[in-house]
Formats: sequence, structure tokens, C-alpha cells
Amino acid sequence: MEKELDWGNLSFGYIPTDYNVRCYYRDGKWGDIEVSQSETVNLHIAATALHYGQEIFEGLKAFRGKDGKIRIFRLEENAKRIIDSAKGIMMEPVPAGLFAEMVKKVVKLNERFVPPYGSGASLYIRPLEIGISAQVGVKPASEYLFLILVSPVGPYFKSGFKPTNICIMRDFDRVAPKGTGRWKVGGNYAASLAAGEKAHSMGYSAVLYLDPKEKKYLDECGPANFFAIKDGRYITPASESILPSITNMSLMQLAQDMGIEVERRHITIDELAHIQEAAACGTAAVASPVGEIDDIDTGDKYVLSADGQPGPVTTALYNKLRAVQLGDEEDVHGWVTVLD
Ligand SMILES: *Cc1c(COP(=O)(O)O)cnc(C)c1O
Repeated sequence: MEKELDWGNLSFGYIPTDYNVRCYYRDGKWGDIEVSQSETVNLHIAATALHYGQEIFEGLKAFRGKDGKIRIFRLEENAKRIIDSAKGIMMEPVPAGLFAEMVKKVVKLNERFVPPYGSGASLYIRPLEIGISAQVGVKPASEYLFLILVSPVGPYFKSGFKPTNICIMRDFDRVAPKGTGRWKVGGNYAASLAAGEKAHSMGYSAVLYLDPKEKKYLDECGPANFFAIKDGRYITPASESILPSITNMSLMQLAQDMGIEVERRHITIDELAHIQEAAACGTAAVASPVGEIDDIDTGDKYVLSADGQPGPVTTALYNKLRAVQLGDEEDVHGWVTVLD
């Protein structure tokens, strides 16, 4: 880099780095790991990824600690989840060992893009797998490309850890009951764009989706899970149409460590009238506090933060998870891979 990046002001966008890593599955086996400096892929025009949506991805982050060491958060869980996603849409699963080796390799190769401690920025790691063999009839590909790119991303909360408003809209579902919602499939995101853009145009940061079958229970917030604090308990939806968020899983554990009771269960819309705090949780933000939930169709408004400040439990959980990621707090659960 000729010029040092302005780490604190980076957005959650794409910034080119030095290398990406790739591996092809052909003739029934995964090949050697390739290091690439190209930002493009050469694809067959009949690749299944292009026609039938055989595409899955992951998202995780690397952080630089006070000690200068690089820490990757919950690598093994992402490795497991992309295997589930692959099986879900009939793709060849990437072995967990290969996944881990490639993640570590791509971070190491792009070490100079891991933002410094204290900047609030991190290195976002984006593994993805696509079906690449030519197929016009609808069936799974026989060849796959697994690649990992990285990009430095700025602090999620640039103007401070503040609540935003979200909305409920019954005109849109992003996934079907027993469909692909439990896997990290690109197509789920295509299915969420119309609702997401509509919500943004009305000033909301996200849509809180309801279960697509009965439209009675809370599901998740597009690209993030949802949790609420109700009478001191951490409650989060159990649903077969949401993605098992690794951030949510981690927050549930930290909540238990703090002596907070955790309930993973159906949460009805009516229950929103009885919660004290809520947040969207995922790798990008850790926890994004919710100020108000507006039900567009009924006109009901659930105000959670009258003073524009996040609630105490959400704040404590957010700080705790960030501290583990940065290495400021002891990693008692073995969540962090320190690069050597
Ligand atoms: C990636 C994702 C999340 C968040 O998962 P994390 O592992 O916490 O980053 C939540 N919901 C959906 C639909 C996702 O794709």
C-alpha cells in the first residue's frame, strides 16, 4: 500500500487486497489450494451457479489484538455451517480442514490489510462456493469452485453504538417454510432485496421477518438473527426458516456465563409489547440495538428506546463479545484462532 488506509472510516464495502485463495473440485476430488491475484473468475456460461443458484457463502472476521496478533473468530463453526449449506442445496461440501487451512492462508497473505488494534475496523473474510460445471437440465453440478476473498471493513457503529428502527411487513417472505432459510444461500438474499430496499426507503435499517407459514412468530432480520431481552431473560426465535447465526450462538453462551437465562423458542408478535430490549445480531455488527419496531400493516409501534440509547444487557453482551474477539478478554470457550 502506498498510502495507509483510513481504517476508522472504511465502510462495509469491497476494498481490493493482494490475494484470494481458490480450490476446485473436479473428477471427484478437491485439488491444490491456488493463490490468485486476479479479482475475476472465468466461468462456463452454463455453470449451475449462474442458472440454478448453486451458490453458498460464509462471513467471518479477523481482528488485530493489543499484542499485535491476528485473531480469527469461530472459524470451526463457519466451516461446519458451510458444509450444512452445501448439503442443503446438493453441492460438494468443503472439508473442514481445507476450509480452515484456506482461511488462515488468505488472512496471512493479506496480513497488511488487517486493521490495527483500536481502529474499530477488522478484516472481513468471505468464503464462497459455486457450481461451475455446464448443466442445462436441472441437476447439481459435478464441479465446484471454493474461493475466499477478504476485505478490510470499518467499524459498524461509526457514530456510536446507537439503536435503529426496524419494521415488520407481511407482503414479503424471504424464504419458505422448510426451505433454504436454514442455509447461507445467495438466493435467500436475492429474495430479500425488494423488502429490504422498501424498508430502507421508509427509513428502517432492516425488516424483521415473520415465520413464512403462519406469520405469527418472529423469524429474523434478513441478514441477521433477532434477540430480545424480556424480564432479564435473553429470548431468541427457534425456527426452521432462519440461519443459525454464530454470533447469536456466542451471545447466548456469554449471556449464560453472565447468569442470564436463555430461551430459544417461538416468539409471537404480541410478545413485542412485553420486551425491554431488542437487537439484530450477526458478524457485521455483533449486535445492532433496536430502538423501535413498527408493524407496517397493523400500525402497531413497539418503542424500546425512548432516550435513543441501547439497553444495558445488549450493551454488556456487545462489549463482552467484542473483547473476546480482540483478545482483551480471556477466550475461555476456545472461540479464537490466533495466527502465528
Ligand atoms: C450470515 C447470516 C446471519 C448471521 O450469522 P453470523 O454467523 O452471526 O454472522 C443471520 N441470518 C442470515 C440469513 C445470514 O445469512
